[in-house]
Amino acid sequence: MDASTPRTGAPQPAYLPTAGGPLAVDRDLYGRLASETGRRTLVNEFVIPIRSGRAWTVKAGQLCRIVVVEGPQVADLNLWNLHNPRERFWASRTRQLHRAHVTTYDRLWSTLPYLRPLATITNDTMDYGVDEDGARCHDLLGTRCDPYVNQLLTGESFDFHCHSNLVRAVLPHGLTELDVHDVINVFQVTGLTDDGDQYYMKASPARKGDFFEFLAEVDLLCALSTCPGGDLSVPLWGPDAGDPLPTCRPLGIEVHQPDPELLAGWSPPQPAGYRGLHGITLPEHGPR
Ligand SMILES: [Zn+2]
Repeated sequence: MDASTPRTGAPQPAYLPTAGGPLAVDRDLYGRLASETGRRTLVNEFVIPIRSGRAWTVKAGQLCRIVVVEGPQVADLNLWNLHNPRERFWASRTRQLHRAHVTTYDRLWSTLPYLRPLATITNDTMDYGVDEDGARCHDLLGTRCDPYVNQLLTGESFDFHCHSNLVRAVLPHGLTELDVHDVINVFQVTGLTDDGDQYYMKASPARKGDFFEFLAEVDLLCALSTCPGGDLSVPLWGPDAGDPLPTCRPLGIEVHQPDPELLAGWSPPQPAGYRGLHGITLPEHGPR
């Protein structure tokens, strides 16, 4: 049987897009935004140094690129509604609604009680697919590295994990450590072992010039950490653990304003419409 032929009775995805539904994107519109690069204006551009974090804003309808400027490097990305940081990226729901590794035309969804796409991926030059180990790129299975788990597992204190880099990045925007949340690991190749269902990471195959681009569906605050694990080619734990510093590289950020004509037919999504109050009946007050 061809590997692409589903086995009879094989489980089917729990969430499937329907034509015109919220999980399906207008590929003509988003494809046009991605391909018509001559009809956009660069409005912000900077480089995030190794082992650090930066936060920046992207207005609804703008395109943001995370760019491999020197060589492979994994990145940990957080997203918030610029005007309400309680609405932020929800990695696990995104994993269910789309897949555990996201790519072009997948959307990055927000937390309850909002549940709308914060961003839609327009161009993933990696287009990694699935490799011989069953691994895929742009990971939603794992989360950010952090100093607490590092202290727990190694007994060592280190201040430049992605969690800490994101904390420092958001402070100037009035947010705190408690606002940092589960990430999308951009340019990171991961999977689950066949025999143990355990998480693994592989060296990032990203090459200079690769980028991961998304459309901001609402006004966004974005924060990104250049992981201190670099390209993850050096094991961070276990008997073969080494110093990944030589594999750490900066990443570029670009924000582009597309020609308004390219956005024809697009509008920022509204929060999901549930107004049921979870079955709670509110007390009524008034004169008797
Ligand atoms: Zn990290």
